[in-house]
Amino acid sequence: MRELNQRIRYLELPDRMNRLKINDQGFPIPYFVPYVDGKPEFRGFDGEKLAICVRLKRCWLCGEPLGKFMVFVIGPMCAVNRVSAEPPSHRECALYAVRACPFLTQPRMRRNEVDMPEHLEPAGIMLRRNPGVTLMWTTLKYSVVKDGRGGALFNVGDPERVEFFAEGRPATHDEIMASISSGMPTLREMAERDGPDAVAELGRMYDKAMELVR
Ligand SMILES: [Zn+2]
Repeated sequence: MRELNQRIRYLELPDRMNRLKINDQGFPIPYFVPYVDGKPEFRGFDGEKLAICVRLKRCWLCGEPLGKFMVFVIGPMCAVNRVSAEPPSHRECALYAVRACPFLTQPRMRRNEVDMPEHLEPAGIMLRRNPGVTLMWTTLKYSVVKDGRGGALFNVGDPERVEFFAEGRPATHDEIMASISSGMPTLREMAERDGPDAVAELGRMYDKAMELVR
């Protein structure tokens, strides 16, 4: 086994993630990561593994069976629309990801979409910016919805617990508010295209999300 990257060596790797391979840069390769030309493509996900995770209730990050509590690792806008493009994980695995994953810990590291293979495009309309703030949304249930393009999205159930992170540490109130505010215009535009009912519904969802931010 290769050594872990120096930046994440201080973090304890969850037991369940011990079996994951390590990439050339020393980062564990999550279960969902597809291989393109023999190389792990961290920006995409493997559709077959997604189906396995949903059908067999497996963890998105380690591939092992999930328990009762399921944790979605989502961007701040998902706290408003309650939609995730990815299925849930174990709490330990999610906590490791929000501390170790370069995409989630470095707000200035833009998702590099150059050369992104088209078939790996995530389902639904992803808000294409690194949100800076990441949430761990713990729930007992979720439902699968078709995105209309042959993909699937996940409606996350009511939260048992919500934790906000930025740069691998708990996010401040200002960071949470800034990240939600910066994403709202996009959601509002989408709602406006759908009509006044959708705009009113977005308003209700926004208020509900605000109850989680204290
Ligand atoms: Zn796991």
